[in-house]
Amino acid sequence: MQTITLLGATGSIGVSTLDVIARHPNKYRVFALTAHSQVDKLAAQCQQFNPQYAVVGDSQSASRLQSLLKSSGSKTQVLWGRDSLCAVASDTAVDTVMAAIVGAAGLVPTLAAVQAGKKILLANKESLVMAGGLFMQAVADSGSLLLPIDSEHNAIFQCLPEDFNSSADRSGVKKLLLSASGGPFRGWSAEQMQSVTPDQACAHPNWSMGRKISVDSATLMNKGLELIEACWLFDMPASQIEVVVHPQSVIHSLVQYIDGSVLAQLGNPDMRTPIAHALAWPERIDTGVADLDLFEVAQLNFEKPDLDSFPCLAMAIAAAAAGKNAPAILNAANEIAVQAFLDQRISFMQIAAVVEQTLNGQILTEPQSLAAVQESDEQARLYSSAYIKRLEK
Ligand code: NAD
Ligand code: MG
Repeated sequence: MQTITLLGATGSIGVSTLDVIARHPNKYRVFALTAHSQVDKLAAQCQQFNPQYAVVGDSQSASRLQSLLKSSGSKTQVLWGRDSLCAVASDTAVDTVMAAIVGAAGLVPTLAAVQAGKKILLANKESLVMAGGLFMQAVADSGSLLLPIDSEHNAIFQCLPEDFNSSADRSGVKKLLLSASGGPFRGWSAEQMQSVTPDQACAHPNWSMGRKISVDSATLMNKGLELIEACWLFDMPASQIEVVVHPQSVIHSLVQYIDGSVLAQLGNPDMRTPIAHALAWPERIDTGVADLDLFEVAQLNFEKPDLDSFPCLAMAIAAAAAGKNAPAILNAANEIAVQAFLDQRISFMQIAAVVEQTLNGQILTEPQSLAAVQESDEQARLYSSAYIKRLEK
């Protein structure tokens, strides 16, 4: 029996994770569920999965959850705030932590789970983008098992030899090929994208996801964040990772070997597959995902990404190569810009402008501590927020 804390239970990844867990009541037990503000949804999840703890963002949400749970006779204890997230992520009763909070807010609780030596199912790519060096050092120090949930990274993990990360000769791996669907605006020019709305940007052709990552998929920033994530997860330089636009989202990523072999992982685009793969690894379990029908798919296409129309990808690749705190600055500016776009304060193409301006306005330094990462994050947020205010005038 694996005991699990699910950080970000009410989100898209959280709900898919609970769907897989519900199919295997003899294998998995939920210790804690957390959410930021979706109290009603969390209350319903608590009634179904009976966790020991539920954690929300603030005291008001906690009181509301408390009274909802009380009236239903639930025994779940309600906590709130960041320290409580860290506590349920590192509790000795917990084997596995699903890190599925969106954005920089996921960093501290995920690190707490790493430092406690938990098995980490990592969906929160932003924590690796912000603090990859410190994060991977903490994984090595604690001996925690880190398994990727992002479909591309999970695919690469499945195509690499098991001892890849400890292999000195890199096991004959030449390149990682990172699949990208191209998002809802694939083939569009920058001019055509000037007036797109948040709903258009969030209407992903193949994947159903939270709004922040959906916008990132539309700007291709998501692929840039994933490239940085892949550098850290697989200890590969950005120069050995290539983005391949593959509109069908059936091949989730590939590994190219020096003998000419290329291994790929295929499947229907449904996050329950990588979630179940990591939950059960090295075993395989049922997920409810429909079998891939290659005859129905019929065609697999590939294109190079258009870096001119999608400058966010180009900036992320440059930030990966620049290293230091460039990825943390890129990530923070992007979070602020995406929220401003979702709030209809800036246009879609201005997301890239905010990120570019913020990167240009900061001095790059090597972050030696979590506090230094948080300082870069904070400075970039202040800078990009001020720039957005100027754009609005
Ligand atoms: P989502 O917006 O659907 O859900 C986010 C979750 O985080 C919610 O449970 C929310 O309550 C919680 N949350 C938000 N802000 C918080 C805060 N300040 N403090 C604590 N909790 C907070 O997001 P999602 O699509 O499920 O994505 C979650 C993570 O997984 C992201 O990092 C994303 O990049 C990654 N990811 C998602 C997908 C996908 O298919 N959705 C695929 C790959 C990777
Ligand atoms: Mg992905």
